[in-house]
Amino acid sequence: MEKQVVVIGLGRFGRSVCKQLYELGHEVLAIDIKEARVKAASNYSYYAVIANAADENGLKNYGVKNFDYAIVAIGDSIESSILCTLILKEMGLNEVWVKARDPHHKKILEKVGADRIIEPEKEMGIRVANQLDSGKLLDYIELSNDYSIVELVATQKLSNKSLVQLDVRAKFGCTILAIKQKGNLNIAPMPHDVISKGDMLVVMGHIKDLKRFEEKGF
Ligand code: ATP
Repeated sequence: MEKQVVVIGLGRFGRSVCKQLYELGHEVLAIDIKEARVKAASNYSYYAVIANAADENGLKNYGVKNFDYAIVAIGDSIESSILCTLILKEMGLNEVWVKARDPHHKKILEKVGADRIIEPEKEMGIRVANQLDSGKLLDYIELSNDYSIVELVATQKLSNKSLVQLDVRAKFGCTILAIKQKGNLNIAPMPHDVISKGDMLVVMGHIKDLKRFEEKGF
């Protein structure tokens, strides 16, 4: 479903969010205080406007309070980022997601009511380290502190074995949700489906069980 999203601050992070949302078909209003950044954003947003997002009147003029989501991607000025978040929450926006520069910034954003705080460099750093650590891990989604969904590449050890033979749920407590084989995604794998080396497995489970499966099952 199409969402109305206002993206404030068009640095590298804000631009990337803006472009992707636009490509996904959402209605994006892009805001920046710098004219050149706003001009460039007109190619990948429904509307792009110059405004000072730390000024309530600046945002009111563009009907920002009616939007479903706001992404605040102002990294250079912590003061503006905090003020902008406060204004958006006071306007009544339900979902205000804000990029934080450091833990101090994050703490203040929590206090002023940011609904999600993103630390792109930190989060991506953890992701890359986990991928490197595992060697088999392509990607993962944290469902909670304890549970995740991971994408793993099948090794020779799993090759030519069916899901029944592997019995991953009984042995490791994890569930294979999907198998990607030669570009085809099988989202409802059957017990007798056979895995080949290089297939991508989407597996859900407790992080301890997933780690055990990765280390012992592969
Ligand atoms: P990155 O490029 O990695 O995202 P960053 O978070 O430091 O780095 P900047 O390049 O500094 O981001 O971009 C922040 C953007 O926010 C800039 O384009 C800047 O003009 C814009 N900005 C800063 N203050 C305001 C404000 N009060 N209102 C609107 N836009 C603002």
